[in-house]
Amino acid sequence: MLYFKTDEGVGLLKESNLLVSKTLAEIARYIKPGVTTLYLDSIAEKFILDHSATPAFKGYAGFPKTLCTSVNDQVVHGIPSDYQLKEGDIISIDCGVILNGWYGDSAYTFAVGKISEETKRLLKFTKASLEEGVKAAVAGNRVGDISYAIQTKAESGGYSVVRELVGHGIGKKLHEAPEVPNFGKKGTGPKMEKGLVICIEPMINLGNKETIQMKDGWTIKTADGRPSAHFEYAVAVNKGKADVLTTFKYIEEVLNKM
Ligand code: MG
Ligand code: MG
Repeated sequence: MLYFKTDEGVGLLKESNLLVSKTLAEIARYIKPGVTTLYLDSIAEKFILDHSATPAFKGYAGFPKTLCTSVNDQVVHGIPSDYQLKEGDIISIDCGVILNGWYGDSAYTFAVGKISEETKRLLKFTKASLEEGVKAAVAGNRVGDISYAIQTKAESGGYSVVRELVGHGIGKKLHEAPEVPNFGKKGTGPKMEKGLVICIEPMINLGNKETIQMKDGWTIKTADGRPSAHFEYAVAVNKGKADVLTTFKYIEEVLNKM
């Protein structure tokens, strides 16, 4: 069943997602060669607690940390560790919070120092595919319209779409209905109406679409070992145009100064 939020509910979700946007911007300041993913996790945890919120992923289904940090060929759900970032890496940072009982969830893939042109283009297309998905998240459309828009954009760049993991509804739970796949057909799936709040989160691979799970029981990697990118927005479906509850503005302000 789909939960349609009142304007008040959407407003509270906007606050929790704004805090995630600001947490990712805080982390952005520390991303450079030599820094461990565990250190980034500690920055995020402190920032969230300092803002009267709770890390949403820590303890969720037994996940041990505040962030998912997924480097290079890791797609999602990487566990922060003593791995030191190095020049040319990319790192997807996925962050969730609970503020006033409402969840926020967003992800951004960062470059560590200088990255190859090939990887830069992957990041650009993944973010663009997210934007295409957002354009389709309007009242009266179906979830498959979002899926189709993302897949079309990603594949137009020569990339492949991960099938095993999908976006989701969000509210007083981290994962609500509907599932929001990043591949699919127009005109299929649940019909969206004003007040539906969903996380759209394309996971796009440079090589082929197949993934494998690592022995830690969490980390998902590409089967061919080539890089993967991931960007995620929470959006409130509305008439004519979705209300994007996440903003990458703060992250990009930090990155532009580095
Ligand atoms: Mg999500
Ligand atoms: Mg997420």
